Amino acid sequence: MNQLHLYLSHLEHNYTVIRNKIRPTTQLFGVVKANAYGSALAPIAKRLVELGVDKLAVASTEEGTQLRDYGIKTPILVFYPQIEKIPELLKADLEPCVYSDHYLNQLAAALNSKSIQNYPIHLKFNTGLNRIGFAPDAVEMLIQKTNQSCFKVESIYSHLAASEDRPSILCDLQIERFKQIKATYEKVLTNPPYFHLLNSSGVFNYPEYEFDAVRCGIALHGYANKLEWDALLKPVAALKAQITQIHSVKKGEAIGYNSGWVAPAETRIATLPLGHADGIGRHFGNQKGTVVIKGQKAPIIGNVCMDMLMVEVGNIPCEEGDEVTFFGPMDQSAEEFAQQGNTISYELLTGLGPRIKRLLHP
Ligand SMILES: *Cc1c(COP(=O)(O)O)cnc(C)c1O
Repeated sequence: MNQLHLYLSHLEHNYTVIRNKIRPTTQLFGVVKANAYGSALAPIAKRLVELGVDKLAVASTEEGTQLRDYGIKTPILVFYPQIEKIPELLKADLEPCVYSDHYLNQLAAALNSKSIQNYPIHLKFNTGLNRIGFAPDAVEMLIQKTNQSCFKVESIYSHLAASEDRPSILCDLQIERFKQIKATYEKVLTNPPYFHLLNSSGVFNYPEYEFDAVRCGIALHGYANKLEWDALLKPVAALKAQITQIHSVKKGEAIGYNSGWVAPAETRIATLPLGHADGIGRHFGNQKGTVVIKGQKAPIIGNVCMDMLMVEVGNIPCEEGDEVTFFGPMDQSAEEFAQQGNTISYELLTGLGPRIKRLLHP
């Protein structure tokens, strides 16, 4: 079975780098959506709690419920809660992002029907990403609408559309709008909620806008969307496999489905037990992606199959059973490998399938 090695000491290193970058009073939310960025939800979340995250954040109610089932008691923010899951959300004591009037009304109805008071909620404003959230000019109306005894508005947040870019006209506009939202709250309320805006790359790129909390996911796994920031972090995950079979092929022989690659000369190819069903998509085929065998790079040739892919190993001194690295802290990083396939570390990591065994290292 293929292995995703997870180095918890690197998670701790990354956590410490982020903690040391932000002010001591700023809260750090550990984002563990999508199986903790494709790693292993429960152990990563547990370790983050031990390290001292102030809150965990997930995408869906189901992810939050899973964390509760693992015995995690830390507050959990749900970024994208769905209306149908409000009963489960309340049962698991998860803190929803409230992003629309419809969600707000449905949540209020559910809370009131159970006579629940002061339920913690987080209001999301759409300052320019145009994904989810209230319009900035809805602030005063929202202050009224959330002034109900069933709610306790804990925080106000927004999300930058390009936090790895600076200067960015859009981010500047978003920051300006967010500051205005904050100013309105502070004018109207004597005891305003707290505010947060930044994700991982925002922490590196817009440090003066950390406000009261930051929400970090990918940086905890060693990536921050720029190689110079990545250099301060350590990749948590290493993806490895063992060579299933080696073939010697003659010039002109075709390899894989639809003869995706034809040997230009006599060479050796190795078949590896990972395919697009495991998250190594077809965009890595046809010499886009390379893997590392005995310290040397071998290109992925032909079309990636569902369960296997082929690499040209030529004269690399390797045999069947030898270990191959797709990415990891000692070889090419997941960001570098992702770029070879014209994608990003987020997509590569979160797409790693369940057939890959997760192995934890202290
Ligand atoms: C996923 C997510 C984050 C974390 O982003 P990273 O770039 O992984 O740090 C923060 N905030 C929101 C709203 C998100 O959806």
